[in-house]
Amino acid sequence: MLKIDMHSHILPEKLPNFADKFGYGEFIHLISNNDGSANMMQGEKFFRKIESNCWNPEVRIKEYQNFDTQVQVVCTIPVMFSYWAKAKDCRQLSEFLNDDIAELCNNYPQNYLGLGTIPMQDADEAIKELQRCKEIGLLGVQIGSNINDKNLSEPEFFPIFEACAELGMAVMIHPWNMMGMDSMRKYWLPWLVGMPAETSRAACSLIFGGVLEKLPALRVCFSHAGGSFLPTLGRVEHGFNCRPDLVAIHNNINPRSYVGDFWVDCITHDPKMLQYILDLQGSKKVCLGSDYPFPLGDLEIGEFINQMDLSTNTVEDIFCNSTLEWLNIDKSRFMGNGNSKNQQSIYKNS
Ligand SMILES: [Zn+2]
Repeated sequence: MLKIDMHSHILPEKLPNFADKFGYGEFIHLISNNDGSANMMQGEKFFRKIESNCWNPEVRIKEYQNFDTQVQVVCTIPVMFSYWAKAKDCRQLSEFLNDDIAELCNNYPQNYLGLGTIPMQDADEAIKELQRCKEIGLLGVQIGSNINDKNLSEPEFFPIFEACAELGMAVMIHPWNMMGMDSMRKYWLPWLVGMPAETSRAACSLIFGGVLEKLPALRVCFSHAGGSFLPTLGRVEHGFNCRPDLVAIHNNINPRSYVGDFWVDCITHDPKMLQYILDLQGSKKVCLGSDYPFPLGDLEIGEFINQMDLSTNTVEDIFCNSTLEWLNIDKSRFMGNGNSKNQQSIYKNS
């Protein structure tokens, strides 16, 4: 069965020092370690240690082979978004990251599909880079759950979503710049509490702000199974019903009616929760995702799904059909039809 992981992160092996180049800001740069790993540095601050599976396509393909997964949808690491930077500089950084991913996808068309990043802080710049992403073969973009603390319902972002819908570019929403970060630094709370809340913030903003209503062609996928949105849907719906004066001011349609219009990944680490998500969304709107190569991800790439009592059709939807539909691509491109430019395609080896 074709397995596509639609949520994985990648970086170029080498990054220019953008802080030096632009003369300001805590842009991420890399310092290589003797053991082959690298440290991601945010200005002078250590951010995260990464291994070669964060940049080496062959290492990644081999690791994925252990879990019978042939295709990775790759996007940058959210800390690279750099929405705080000057828009033109952020666009230049985005171009660099997007070109790297496009080249990877071009070299390994059977193994990699790409999502770009765009300077969301400026709609004109964002749309220009979005158009370029399409031209270089990327299938969509990954954006943050908020943009410099602004919600995705803000009117300034609408033209970007509109352009995504018109260009047929898929949108993956990833939590970042987590709310409450400063007051909950201990216990990894920004990742454990802030991230799920951020994704719900994004989903509620797009629904209550009428973005999903106005743009039915927009193909949105929320990370981490939609964060806390679906698990708290009853509360969200009840709030809509009991205080429409607060909630239904821009869109008077019940938020529950949008469930199943968007996609989510399966990253729940919990079969019962995934079953609940499947019951709500339908199997065609739940995608295999892992958050590889980071430790909070599902680094067995959906193995827990094989342990669940799901029909073959449901598993196939999660493993590939949902993602193919979200990205609007055909399964045949992975079925060994001779399109591969790379002889090391694991599909040919398997
Ligand atoms: Zn992620």
